[in-house]
Amino acid sequence: MIKAEIIAVGSELLTPFRADTNSLYLTRSVEEHGIRVIAKTIIGDDLNQIAQSFSIAFDRSDVIISTGGLGPTIDDLTREALTKYLGIPLVLDKNILQKIERRFAERNIKMPESNRQQAMVPQGAIPLENENGTAPGIFIETRGKQVFLLPGPPFELEAMWEKYALPLLKRGELFQRQIFKIALMGESRVDEMLRPVTSTLKKTEYTILAGPGEVEIHLLAPFDAKEELLESANNVRAILGNRIYAEELAYMEEVVARLLRGFNKTVSVAESCTGGLLAHRLTQIPGSSNYFERGVVVYSNASKNQVLHVPYELIEQHGAVSAPVAITMAEQIRLLSHSDFGIGITGIAGPDGGNEQKPVGLVFVALADLNVTRVEKYHFPPGRDRIKFMASQAALNLLRLRLTE
Ligand code: ATP
Ligand code: MG
Repeated sequence: MIKAEIIAVGSELLTPFRADTNSLYLTRSVEEHGIRVIAKTIIGDDLNQIAQSFSIAFDRSDVIISTGGLGPTIDDLTREALTKYLGIPLVLDKNILQKIERRFAERNIKMPESNRQQAMVPQGAIPLENENGTAPGIFIETRGKQVFLLPGPPFELEAMWEKYALPLLKRGELFQRQIFKIALMGESRVDEMLRPVTSTLKKTEYTILAGPGEVEIHLLAPFDAKEELLESANNVRAILGNRIYAEELAYMEEVVARLLRGFNKTVSVAESCTGGLLAHRLTQIPGSSNYFERGVVVYSNASKNQVLHVPYELIEQHGAVSAPVAITMAEQIRLLSHSDFGIGITGIAGPDGGNEQKPVGLVFVALADLNVTRVEKYHFPPGRDRIKFMASQAALNLLRLRLTE
């Protein structure tokens, strides 16, 4: 396995104001070429610290890619740090100097002396052209390692990487990835259910990622372990069944949208505690007018009665957060809108408003079609945003299950 490591240089990346996105871009690209990223470092603009990062990277990785710190300013130290660590000199590259001088001449500005620094390359290195800026990148192959120094600004880095760095990059063993997205199950529960599969894996790597209302499973295998990957994927399918809502990086609303369009069905929604989130998610997908008829937010009891004719007696008898109210909301919105499906959601998003019988996180979701209305009761963990999201997720999942029956 060829191992890569990314060093993102820049003190600003250690603040809450700037995120290191270059390494995400690089990781994706590197992994597409069969190389595994085993570590990422974010390091401030300090010569010794950067040199130390190179030292650590040389000890454990085959490909080392740094981003940032190639510019002309005093805090741009990546070049110096690498040569300091390697104990080799920086030499002036006349070609680069000419190019930088020309860039300034074209704009009729005198080149600041500090820009000369950008024409200094480690002895034995190959400069990588920067079509979108002045700082060239650097490629050096030494001690059996490939080292790429790339500029910080993403659009400079990406162009340089694609055109000048990628052709030089080693090629690793290609991997195959199998993804599963699972709705409304906890991470530990999924992990436990999959133990019989995951505990027997030999060459396949297993990763589990939890998000609100969903869990993602990745199985990653080198091409020569394709058999193992196929077999373990089949076992995952057998264990989780229709709890798997996608085998790609798709959102639940995309999957539901595809199903609705495929079956030529329409849906309308009546929401209370989700405040329109379900309608929002259903309309996030281009072409949603093909399947989404309408959504109403009926937050107050009066609105539930006036818009959807939910009887006051029903609300008084069972409470606004109850199965009968959710059912009526779903049935009424379906009838009013002449849709194939109607969804009703009512619940307590908190943090206030809960009590012992009806705690925060209690949500009823009802799904009505021509023949039946089903209702599900959930108790989601606290956090207003999370409860709203999980409720919308549960509603989408009910519809998905109904459409795939
Ligand atoms: P320049 O010639 O522009 O100075 P440089 O190679 O010296 O380029 P830096 O000075 O380190 O790069 O960073 C320039 C800008 O690039 C930063 O202000 C930041 O906006 C962006 N940048 C740097 N590193 C990253 C990163 N890892 N992810 C995303 N953006 C970055
Ligand atoms: Mg800079």
